[in-house]
Amino acid sequence: MPASKDTFINTRQDTLNEQFIDNAWVPSRSKTCRPVHDPYHESLLAEMTCGDPADVDLAVAAAQRALPNWRATPEAGRGEYLEAIAAGLETRRQALAELSSRNNGKPLAEAYQDLDDAIACYRYYAKAAVALGQRQGTVEDAGQPDLEARHYWDAIGVVGLITPWNFPLVSSAWKLAPALAAGCTVVFKPSEVTPLPEQILAEIVMEAGLPPGVFNLLLGDGEGIGAPLSRHPSIDKLSFTGSNAVGEAVMRAAAQGVRPVSLELGGKSAILVTEDADLGLARDLVMAGICYNAGQMCSATSRLLVHERLADDLYAAIDAAMAALRLGDPQAIETDMGPLVNATQRERVQSYMALANEEGLSSETPALTLPEQGFFVAPRLYREVPTTSRLWQEEIFGPLLCARSVADDAEAIALANDSDFGLAATVVAGDADRAETIARRLEAGNVWCNSDQIAPPQGSWGGMKRSGIGRELGDLGLGAYLELKRITRPAKT
Ligand code: NAD
Repeated sequence: MPASKDTFINTRQDTLNEQFIDNAWVPSRSKTCRPVHDPYHESLLAEMTCGDPADVDLAVAAAQRALPNWRATPEAGRGEYLEAIAAGLETRRQALAELSSRNNGKPLAEAYQDLDDAIACYRYYAKAAVALGQRQGTVEDAGQPDLEARHYWDAIGVVGLITPWNFPLVSSAWKLAPALAAGCTVVFKPSEVTPLPEQILAEIVMEAGLPPGVFNLLLGDGEGIGAPLSRHPSIDKLSFTGSNAVGEAVMRAAAQGVRPVSLELGGKSAILVTEDADLGLARDLVMAGICYNAGQMCSATSRLLVHERLADDLYAAIDAAMAALRLGDPQAIETDMGPLVNATQRERVQSYMALANEEGLSSETPALTLPEQGFFVAPRLYREVPTTSRLWQEEIFGPLLCARSVADDAEAIALANDSDFGLAATVVAGDADRAETIARRLEAGNVWCNSDQIAPPQGSWGGMKRSGIGRELGDLGLGAYLELKRITRPAKT
């Protein structure tokens, strides 16, 4: 593979047949490998082990051994390690952004945003760890005058963390940072599709001086690592981000032994545009909601509900904006949209385009000339899509936008909520108060009013309905790795 420009990255990534356990790379017990691709050049970047249940056993045992000391490390001390991880990412910012862009296919500017989000997340939980230490032993109402009660928060234990490929280093930061701040030890399984940027975390963790066994990273696929990790009896909690089908499998596995799960799953989010909305703002937010990361976002606002008075103008503006997008080399500064992550994902999106043709759905989006190489699909707006269509109901994970015009806010809200998912939504309205009134009635974990989709570390992330269980980021994100202990005793006299 091409050498990294950055000397801070260890280019051990052409054959990934080792697992990071107890602060050392050890050979995987698996003898089978799978390819890791560059989706723009359609070339092989590396061969990676599929992983083996025996790798999981070793990593979980290491995490168990490390747990007592890590749990007993003062919270502020754990915070210092998180600061060091943030610094390790920052030092490698350029090289990691380039590697992530090459492995995932996302434009470089988006990869830089990912890096900055990840760094901010580790820094936020470094501070949150300090604050956790300060609130240990908080006095609470004991319920009886002769008693006093205090609250303490203990680490849940050894946690299994599983992430997808669409936001490398970000999805993992949202889990690793709070888990480590809480005092949990971790076995982390990144996606087999984008292991290259994630595996650098091992190097960073060693440089930060984390004790052996606190952070273990297992490369492999769902069968080799994901499933055995989910069902491992010594895993005390699972946190999973990915598809609903796999999320259900993880939850079933966790039922054995009654182990808690956090699930960040799919979405079919809506963007609602009222008749008094600013047309340019609406167009920009619609475009960002469906074209960022080539639409491969769990929070993609892939259903547009626009007031009938604005519909034709907005549709025309979106078609023009889609036609003006520059598709190409994700590493090139002028590129707006890169390829999809792999051939499988392109086939999936193309199958929905074929279905749209079969159903006679109307699209006036001018056909873009696709680059000669790379797993590209051109963005497309489908107008007045019936709610019975699978394109309207299912998560596509690509730049295909389905739209419907509506008579009023009530109809828009009813249609937005008419989905099994409830991850996110955007409302674009003439004034932010009206947008917020609409937002209050939407069934979604995050609603942005006249705003881009931002997800700062102090915020919260998670879905209602079938989009998941629990919240990441902020206080709730830390709480996901803590157990509350209440101690009641006679009051001091
Ligand atoms: P996926 O479910 O196929 O894979 C996710 C992870 O699970 C990967 O690491 C994979 O190896 C692992 N896995 C596969 N089979 C497993 C098994 N049986 N047991 C345990 N782990 C297993 O998802 P994907 O294709 O990588 O990502 C796309 C999906 O992720 C979309 O549905 C998207 O909506 C969702 N997603 C959700 C969020 C969120 O915050 N809600 C964020 C990003 C992506």
